[in-house]
Amino acid sequence: MKITVDTNSGFCWGVVRTVEIAEQELGDSGKLYSLGEIIHNPVEIERLEEKGLKTIRHEDLPNIKNAKVLIRAHGEPPETYRRARDLGIELIDATCPVVTKVQERIRKFSDKGYQVVIFGKKDHAEVIGLVGHTNNTAIVIKSVSEIDKIDFTKKTVLFSQTTMDKATFYAIRDEIQVKIKAEFEVGTFEEMAIDFHAKDTICGQVSGRDKKLREFAQNNDVIIFVAGRMSSNGKVLYEIAKSENSKTYFVENESELNPEWFEHAETVGISGATSTPQWLMERVKKTIVEKFEAVAK
Ligand code: SF4
Repeated sequence: MKITVDTNSGFCWGVVRTVEIAEQELGDSGKLYSLGEIIHNPVEIERLEEKGLKTIRHEDLPNIKNAKVLIRAHGEPPETYRRARDLGIELIDATCPVVTKVQERIRKFSDKGYQVVIFGKKDHAEVIGLVGHTNNTAIVIKSVSEIDKIDFTKKTVLFSQTTMDKATFYAIRDEIQVKIKAEFEVGTFEEMAIDFHAKDTICGQVSGRDKKLREFAQNNDVIIFVAGRMSSNGKVLYEIAKSENSKTYFVENESELNPEWFEHAETVGISGATSTPQWLMERVKKTIVEKFEAVAK
């Protein structure tokens, strides 16, 4: 049985950067609070907890003393920074620079009076941060079926959560254009007076992976997809792999592997989300070699 770890998977540079920032502080002071899970991967969190990281919620902020608080890659709304300042808490801002840029762009459009629409999941931390940069006025939609929340008579800008899928983003854009056109009953979209912009802010670290993952899934008999169950990007990539190879299985770690998956398999591919550490995929590989190689024969 040939087992390959997907070289195009694992931590994106934004997550690598966040973990490095956290490890540096943990090395210096041995203590750091992360506001929300630093990444959506319980195994990596456990590793960092052993070094002194503690995960806290917003409601814990008033009780924080003698340690810094890390803002994770997803970013936070402006309110969080104000609150920390009022409470005298020192923040370490590890927001991914890609997310910071989206926050800035959204804020500019919001300040100019645009109706801001965000394609994303309303409870996702990144989206909560983005909405905060519009004074909580942005409309969040996660599919074409929700676009009737939008007022098509207003000047509008469409943005995306960085980990959503491109095909749906462009389907939403097209449908908004159709609705605006119907509203104004004019010929082509270009002729319309209405001001509508679609800003594709899906991160290249994520979108570039679809195509390579599809090939990887086709080229292996079995795919083991390793990610935390809370990872939004993990869910999207797993579905992509599954659509190409029905023998794709989701695990958080090596303890969830099932010997039946490897029966008659000649090739096994191990892939993961942008929040999946490389060392974890290697550990899954080692377990398959040690425990399940015999099953395949
Ligand atoms: S996926 Fe992109 S936006 Fe998200 S943390 Fe990684 S680099 Fe940053």
